[in-house]
Amino acid sequence: MPARKPRNLRKTPKPDKSFTIVVGCGRLGAHIASELAEAGNGVVIIDSNREAFRKLAPSFDGIALTGDATEIDVLEEAGLGDASALIAVTERDNTNIMIAEMARVLYDVPRVIARLYDPDKECVYQELGIGTISPVLLSTKEIEHILNPEPPEGAPER
Ligand code: AMP
Repeated sequence: MPARKPRNLRKTPKPDKSFTIVVGCGRLGAHIASELAEAGNGVVIIDSNREAFRKLAPSFDGIALTGDATEIDVLEEAGLGDASALIAVTERDNTNIMIAEMARVLYDVPRVIARLYDPDKECVYQELGIGTISPVLLSTKEIEHILNPEPPEGAPER
């Protein structure tokens, strides 16, 4: 059977180059995708709303694919089977987890990261090899650090 033509791709994936799939082109997803591409990495970004791709840096030279990434067909079009990493950063925890699980369990993608707003869900996924980032925990740590900065090295203890 001939390979299906990818939808809405600016260009076809390069199988000879490792690449990362970013799911969700919100502010975070667009920033990650733009930075990874700027650093020379292959990037495929998926969003169900094609308008979202406007957030990408003008210099973004990766692939933008319009589709619902909870559909396996869409992930396959993005090249999930060959991806070296997947980062799921839609606005919904359950969507991110579902996509991350498909990438880890069904396609054995080596590095998978999901954004989770609910920090209580975090530990469950370590066992599956899914890394999680929690804006709540990261913000809390950063605020604590701003309020209680580490004393400079060599400073006398109080
Ligand atoms: P933000 O709310 O700024 O974090 O953006 C999240 C992005 O994820 C939005 O651009 C949504 O259109 C996108 N999104 C949400 N669900 C899906 C999905 N199932 N597949 C692809 N993109 C999605």
